[in-house]
Amino acid sequence: MKQIDNYINGSYIPPVSGNYLENFEPATGKPYSQVADSGPNDVEQAYQAASVAFPSWSKTSLEERFLIMNRIAEGIERRMELLAVAESIDNGKPVSLARRMDIPRAAANFRFFATAAMQFASESHEMPGTAINYTLRQPIGVVGCISPWNLPLYLFTWKIAPAIATGNTVIAKPSEMTPMTAYLLGEICTEAGLPAGVLNIVQGLGPSAGQAIVSHPGIKAISFTGGTSTGAHIAATAAPVFKKLSLELGGKNAFIVFEDSDFDRVVSEAVRASFSNQGQICLCGSRIIVQESIFEKFTAAFVEKVQQLRIGDPQDENTQIGALVSEAHFHKVSSYIALAQSEGGKILTGGNSVKLSGRCTDGWFLEPTVITGLSQNCRTNQEEIFGPVVTIQSFKDEAEALVLTNDTRYGLATSLWTRDLSRTHRMSAAIQSGIIWVNCWLLRDLRTPFGGVKDSGVGREGGWEAMRFFTEAKNVCIAY
Ligand code: NDP
Repeated sequence: MKQIDNYINGSYIPPVSGNYLENFEPATGKPYSQVADSGPNDVEQAYQAASVAFPSWSKTSLEERFLIMNRIAEGIERRMELLAVAESIDNGKPVSLARRMDIPRAAANFRFFATAAMQFASESHEMPGTAINYTLRQPIGVVGCISPWNLPLYLFTWKIAPAIATGNTVIAKPSEMTPMTAYLLGEICTEAGLPAGVLNIVQGLGPSAGQAIVSHPGIKAISFTGGTSTGAHIAATAAPVFKKLSLELGGKNAFIVFEDSDFDRVVSEAVRASFSNQGQICLCGSRIIVQESIFEKFTAAFVEKVQQLRIGDPQDENTQIGALVSEAHFHKVSSYIALAQSEGGKILTGGNSVKLSGRCTDGWFLEPTVITGLSQNCRTNQEEIFGPVVTIQSFKDEAEALVLTNDTRYGLATSLWTRDLSRTHRMSAAIQSGIIWVNCWLLRDLRTPFGGVKDSGVGREGGWEAMRFFTEAKNVCIAY
């Protein structure tokens, strides 16, 4: 069985404890590799390597960083097929999705921030006749990047790329459920000429390896993407030692459909927004709210399209719905379907586990599920399910749509469908979320700020926001 070791100081090394965890393939329900079960000793090794690498990497020219990061992007692209298959095996997502979205985006992350490093500028402010102030933005030192299992290489590299572009050295931890693509990234970085110790990848569990990164006194900034309760725990750990934090957390996103929207397009996009990656994207629209004048028509068309989605072996090119990431997650999502029914919800389609034949007999597959008839304040409409389960509600007018949209503890993303320009502006200003998509979903210009409000987190990623996060600003005031 393949062993997934840590990547520290440019080499693959086993965990200090010698212990490994079983890594399961969600589509088969069987272990297929063993992943290093790291802890504080491994994080310390990584920290030593990162500290030694920092002085030289932080002084490496921007051109050199640009060239290395571009070679990493090319290395990812050269291994597109290998990485897409690895990601699909690890995560249960359709290989076609990994090939179309996750892996190209991982390469784009390195390319984008390689270029950003070359263009990053800081401000100067003149006090006329008195002084000139300039802002010096310097790398922080050794930083930690912790990412979840749902978009494994995509989110992992979204953090690592700006951190190294700005001259930091990194200790990064992927989820222990999806370690394979992060593991493969190590050799890509070595091949691209990234100096040893600039990126260190520590595999293992959140409470041991992750916690050791968060609580390490030498690691001065943490960029974390994951669940809201884990984010709260990390914030509590980091606050007394004043670490810089970026927290990208959960969501319960509304997908708002007005009667004047482009009907065919909105139906198709609602299916994509609900069930891409089995609904396991933080930005998925898990609450569809539809104007009552088209509620029946929309619901019928939506359900019909959902029933056409092909559930199958993620390795099959034609599969649209793969497996859920783990047995525990499968049971968690299933329990929400039972909860929705006990809360008075009516299942319009789905609701059952799926038994596939062949190698996937024991995989964790669930039908895409659409539920209606629930009140806004029930748990199903308030808690993040993070699976192929959506609810549909109706609204009368703009005011009610706004109330329903904002009535959760989360504020990550909203998708708004209307042709009314004034309404677009009014609602965008009033909606409490960090991202508002109008007549689209999951469209990203990497230069824009990315992140949530309320319990969806603090901090912004993307573009200059990420470059600023990974630097410390110093003001130099020079008197005339
Ligand atoms: P978790 O919060 O469980 O885990 C995220 C990462 O943190 C994993 O690598 C995990 O390790 C690690 N971790 C867990 N406990 C600790 C700890 N005490 N200290 C340090 N690290 C720790 O989230 P999931 O992996 O279950 O991901 C799903 C969640 O992520 C959803 O809530 C989703 O909305 C959110 N998410 C948010 C996004 C955003 O941009 N806002 C994007 C994508 C997902 P391990 O897995 O080994 O436990």
